[in-house]
Amino acid sequence: MKVVKFGGSSLANDKQIKKVKNIIASDKDRKIIIVSAPGKRFDGDIKVTDLLIELASQTLNGSVDTSQTYKEIVERYRDMAEALEIQEPVIDEIKKSLNDILNMDKSQPDYFIDALKASGEDNNAKLIAAYFRTCGLNASYINPGEAGLILSDEPGNAKVLAESYLNLAKLKERDEILVFPGFFGYTKEGKLVTFSRGGSDITGAIVANGVGASMYENFTDVDSIFVASPAHVHNPVGISNLTYREMRELSYAGFTVVHDEALYPAFAENIPVVVKNTNNPEAPGTMITEKKMTENKWPIAGIASHGGFASVYITKYMMNREVGFMRRVLSVFEEYECSVEHVVSGIDDIDVIFKEEQLSAKELDELLLAIQTRTAADKVEKRENLCLLMIVGESMQSSIGITARATKALSQANINLEMINQGSSENSVMFGIKENKEAEAVRAIYDEFFEAED
Ligand code: ASP
Repeated sequence: MKVVKFGGSSLANDKQIKKVKNIIASDKDRKIIIVSAPGKRFDGDIKVTDLLIELASQTLNGSVDTSQTYKEIVERYRDMAEALEIQEPVIDEIKKSLNDILNMDKSQPDYFIDALKASGEDNNAKLIAAYFRTCGLNASYINPGEAGLILSDEPGNAKVLAESYLNLAKLKERDEILVFPGFFGYTKEGKLVTFSRGGSDITGAIVANGVGASMYENFTDVDSIFVASPAHVHNPVGISNLTYREMRELSYAGFTVVHDEALYPAFAENIPVVVKNTNNPEAPGTMITEKKMTENKWPIAGIASHGGFASVYITKYMMNREVGFMRRVLSVFEEYECSVEHVVSGIDDIDVIFKEEQLSAKELDELLLAIQTRTAADKVEKRENLCLLMIVGESMQSSIGITARATKALSQANINLEMINQGSSENSVMFGIKENKEAEAVRAIYDEFFEAED
């Protein structure tokens, strides 16, 4: 049994939904389909989820006219239902469910917002199930509450509770195609709550785990995951196979096609995950597995990069001999509730790297002063606007000279390295560079490993 998830761009209009129907009908193992809300149909269009968030805030505001936003939302579904010639009164149902939510108790606005947000996927799932039936497929909508998807009581950022998996296992017994809305579930008390944004991926991985799927297919709008971001490299090569570990490292440093945290429930059960293109389902896509399935064509699996980091550089003569030095530094970070991403160290100096957004400029200056006072360091300095660039690949463990090639490529491109860090796992090497050099650096490394090798 395969669990198949379709993102918003795969379900944005009638043409996309027809492609989805063909994909499902072409493989009888595709039994459970997880759907997002309708996404953007064209550049500049608005996702239904964003319209719903707007409607929620207008409604809570009380003094704004909500009718236009409400109408736009209903029209999105109506256009699809008409073009797909759905034989059931789905639009009446959608309007009724929207009205019920709009009339619900708003004394705890977070639950009201979540209920409205989730209606994007919920109504899409109902519409798609009805369309499948119109096409003669044996399909039903299933509500996540009925399926037993129980989440923590954290509106907008809920987490799955362990009992969900046993509940979801029962879906295996259903002998029909189930259309399951992504993005939300219910608390133990029965309140609707959503995951963080983009959460339909999480629903898909949880359901795949629960039913012990043979595969979790994640359909999006690219043929595969690319070795580097197309924002920096023109026409980068695609990746045919990644390991879970490689995916984790690449997502950490900026790969956004699918997020490793979202896929974790599938990884935990060793379920292969495939990223495929709804607009080109024949393309093999990227397979993400526990162990490498195919020999690597390239020396590394991918290059990822992400800005928004800063570091605190501390140097003190004989730091290596001072018991508790590191603890004193890190305790200051803890007091400022700032989580630390990496610590790079030398004999007499360390660099503590963190996400810049966690501290205001004033807090950062206070933190520097606190470290200075508590450690009597020779120098405490901040380095802002850093980008972390990572080269990732499990095969790096057994090949020599990869870092040398990367640093040479960066030096030839005249890019200064603020720091280098190789994790003990040897699955990745991280370079700290200035944010404004990001694109150039990614291109230099891409040319070294992918263009030169081709
Ligand atoms: N529709 C939700 C969002 O836009 C969830 C999802 O599509 O995964 O965040």
